[in-house]
Amino acid sequence: MRLVLLGAPGSGKGTQAKQLDTEFDWPQISTGDLLRSAVAAGTELGKKAKATMEAGNLVSDELVLGLIEERIAKPDAKDGFILDGYPRNRAQAEDLDRVLRRLNIKLDAAVLMDVNFDILMKRLTGRRTCSTTGALLNIYFSPKADLDACIEGGGELIQRADDNEDTIRNRLEVYQSQTAPLIDFYRDQGLLKTVVAEGAIDSVYAALKTAIGAQ
Ligand code: AMP
Repeated sequence: MRLVLLGAPGSGKGTQAKQLDTEFDWPQISTGDLLRSAVAAGTELGKKAKATMEAGNLVSDELVLGLIEERIAKPDAKDGFILDGYPRNRAQAEDLDRVLRRLNIKLDAAVLMDVNFDILMKRLTGRRTCSTTGALLNIYFSPKADLDACIEGGGELIQRADDNEDTIRNRLEVYQSQTAPLIDFYRDQGLLKTVVAEGAIDSVYAALKTAIGAQ
């Protein structure tokens, strides 16, 4: 299955894409993760993207298109993939349509992960990664035992560079002005499905599978 996951930062696209990847072997293709790897590796592309990402703005359409074209062409994406964080504006959605047409493939659905603003803020400002285990945690929502286990195991709770309050506000504004219009773009193509993505991870996952007809 070929999916686009649409939704604001903090709507859980990454978490849900990982679950689909694990269960169905449709690779999660996250432009955010690809860009963060490039920044961490200090590549030319990473150097170009770093400041823009830290400010919470979108890196150039051309740059992410290159990443996406290369990733979709890999053998593991032949029978399906989940685009997480791409496309993020109208020009990218049109770029994607062109790439898919060239490959003679079609999207099966674009799923909007719908979450209200206050929950998004808490998910984003509270988000942490355990430095030793890599576990994704949240200081507001994770069980205290899980947070303590990281610290007691010698780990630290690390915040993403772009998860500070100013950058988060900007990322949400960028989403509203540039990405949210894609909801209509995909509705017009008859591809839009909406999932209320505010509950527990497992119940959102069940709703997502129902929405796309995956069993
Ligand atoms: P994410 O992990 O999806 O929240 O992305 C983190 C940051 O990477 C964003 O705030 C942007 O700076 C950049 N980014 C990720 N995906 C895209 C994209 N499709 N277009 C432009 N910038 C992107």
